[in-house]
Amino acid sequence: MIKKPKKPLSKLYFLVLFSFFVPLAGFFVYATQNPIAYFFLAAALLADICLLAAFHGRLQKKQSHIAVLKEEYFERANLMKAELQHEWETIASLRLKIINYAQLKDLTEKLSLCLSLEETSGTLSVEVAKLFGHKDVTVILYLFHSTTGELGISSSQKGQMQVNLKAKKGDIFDQFVVKTLHPLIVEDVQTDFRFDLDKMDAEDKRQLRSLISTPLIVGEKTLGILRLDSSAAHQFSTDDLRFLRTIADLTSIAIENAQLYERLETMAIKDGLTGLYLRRHMLERLGEEIAREMRRGRELSFLMIDLDRFKQYNDTFGHMAGDIVLKSIAQLLEEHFSHPGEMVCRYGGEEFCVVLPDCSKSKAVQLANELRKKVEAREIILRRQKTHVTVSIGVAAFPKDAPGRDEVIFKADEALYQAKETGRNKVCSA
Ligand code: GH3
Ligand code: MG
Ligand code: MG
Repeated sequence: MIKKPKKPLSKLYFLVLFSFFVPLAGFFVYATQNPIAYFFLAAALLADICLLAAFHGRLQKKQSHIAVLKEEYFERANLMKAELQHEWETIASLRLKIINYAQLKDLTEKLSLCLSLEETSGTLSVEVAKLFGHKDVTVILYLFHSTTGELGISSSQKGQMQVNLKAKKGDIFDQFVVKTLHPLIVEDVQTDFRFDLDKMDAEDKRQLRSLISTPLIVGEKTLGILRLDSSAAHQFSTDDLRFLRTIADLTSIAIENAQLYERLETMAIKDGLTGLYLRRHMLERLGEEIAREMRRGRELSFLMIDLDRFKQYNDTFGHMAGDIVLKSIAQLLEEHFSHPGEMVCRYGGEEFCVVLPDCSKSKAVQLANELRKKVEAREIILRRQKTHVTVSIGVAAFPKDAPGRDEVIFKADEALYQAKETGRNKVCSA
């Protein structure tokens, strides 16, 4: 703090004003020609000079005091300006946080409405692309496959567009995140010496300059990676990475729930041993298919397949070996009937069935015979021994043999019985 000068200048101003009367007194003395008056005039002049010198000194002091005060006020103004700036920044970041929280709330609400994994991962990449919409970014969601355990792209988005990416199993950056399980920011891939760009595809290298990526973790389990990349360098800040991590933390649960839901759904419609559809699901689908073919005036064929003397096979090689055979035959069935619409199902035990929409009975018999030969030819090695199994097949067609779903199954079963009765390893039709 600066001290104020002791004497106020106003008193001196009064004395200075008074000193202007000295020249007037001089005129008066000159007019009277009085020698004593001359003496007093000289004394008054001397006093006046002293007074003016003192006033000059005081004035200079006052000026320097004002200069110091001015500097102090400038300093204070600068401090206040900096404080104000800081306050503005805090307000702006708080405003951004409020917007971010609202966006995150919106995202979690949308995710909570999704059931399937496909829907969840699609929604996630679309919404994240919107959240970072002000930047030219590509969002990629990688997930570990539930059965193979391999990392693969689940969904990707660039603005409002789906993207087709080359490195479907992840590139060097994704491998780094999977290995370290830490979030990653690369401001410019060309100057980041942690990564060997020679290991990257030439096209990918051209399209990629900066990225942020974070693992999706629930408890001890790593579900995948959420990554944002851009063809421009320095597109992401550490704040962006922090925001992406929050998104990942919030959405990991939704992804895990969707995976669990999918697994439950699969368990409900697919057989655990062979991976084929279960009878209940097949019955629903067969009903729908028959209704559709009826509307279109087309045929539908149905095959009932049973392994020959499988009880004997089990007794010879054991139940475990029997399971291996069932898996192997299921795989062969799926390979043989892989056209869209064709549906293979485990009817129960060692019985399978196949729904063939828009397929004539004669064509179905031909396909059944081809299958029978393939099964017969397949070598199944058990305890270093080559083994074989055969199948008997019954064929029935809608509407030729039966007017509805249950009747078609019944007729195919009858034809199968006939195949068994007449020697097995053969195809019979209704
Ligand atoms: P057929 O030629 O008349 O069909 O004779 P089969 O022995 O195949 O017929 P059966 O109905 O008498 O026996 C079916 C056998 O299939 C009995 C059972 O041990 C076996 N089986 C059914 N389900 C399974 C399974 O999930 N695993 C194994 N390993 N065997 C099974
Ligand atoms: Mg059998
Ligand atoms: Mg049977």
